[in-house]
Amino acid sequence: MVGRVVGGHGRRFVVETGDGARIPCLTGGRSVSPVCGDMVKVEADADGGHIREVLPRRSLFSKTGHHGKAVPAVANLDRVFMVLAPIPVPELFLMDKYLASIEGMSIETGIVLNKMDLVDERDDGGLNRRLAYLESLDYPVYRVSTRDGAGLEGFAAALEGHVSMLVGQSGVGKSSLLNALVPEAEHRIDELSAATDEGRHTTTSTTLHPLPAGGALVDSPGVRDLELAIRDPAEIGPLFRDIRAIARHCRFANCLHLQEPGCAVKTAVEEGKMPESRYKSYRWLVTTMRQAEGRKYD
Ligand code: GDP
Ligand code: ZN
Repeated sequence: MVGRVVGGHGRRFVVETGDGARIPCLTGGRSVSPVCGDMVKVEADADGGHIREVLPRRSLFSKTGHHGKAVPAVANLDRVFMVLAPIPVPELFLMDKYLASIEGMSIETGIVLNKMDLVDERDDGGLNRRLAYLESLDYPVYRVSTRDGAGLEGFAAALEGHVSMLVGQSGVGKSSLLNALVPEAEHRIDELSAATDEGRHTTTSTTLHPLPAGGALVDSPGVRDLELAIRDPAEIGPLFRDIRAIARHCRFANCLHLQEPGCAVKTAVEEGKMPESRYKSYRWLVTTMRQAEGRKYD
């Protein structure tokens, strides 16, 4: 039979079948390495089942493991939402890096501004201006508060029928959002760790929570922080939606928008059409990657 991996790691997983039954499974052989969200073929036996095959994935979300190598973390995600809040104060560089790294995975991206109850419209440190700029790049922005429930219905509607995940800095309210949207989330996590970890409670494993209205929300503490899973500085520009569009007007097709003459991106920044901090995020990613490249040949 076919089912969906909703939790587990190593060789032990929990697979949910179409009728909602949850089966503890082992992987059958080294060539089968499922991750949460995978659709798998399962052979049932007396104590559970064996995962025999991982079906083709429509997307794969990877996190950066040791040595900067991409490690598959969640399969078949449709949408990843970057969560931010007025407190902790958003780090613009992290926001730009998250958006760029998700852009590289062919997964839809949205932004959730949580803790709206704490937003001071007159003195928000430029937050709303930055969000308006990102909206102009076609990133949908949801404004919510788990404290007073504002905006949660609208955000829940964006999750309906899709497999989604929340990422963002620690403390922005990802767990609070999960608990608001999936009331039985904590109970499920306990149940899953009982099935996959012989009773040991794990807070680091990835869990897929079906949503009441259809679709699912994946909770993956290990992928709350992400790195760009690319190694070539020339691949970074296309992951910034604004730079991708403006770069068509650069004099050189392979312009890295650093020192080159006739660079339309630098002109756009000078003319105030692109925020300087966005450009700085881009330049920081390119130059640090170049330094890492350089070290390889020392
Ligand atoms: P996570 O680290 O992203 O999972 O963040 P948590 O869900 O643990 O939330 C961090 C803190 O922010 C907690 O103290 C929450 O109570 C608080 N918090 C979450 N949502 C809101 C909100 O909408 N408004 C306010 N004022 N605080 C919130
Ligand atoms: Zn350029």
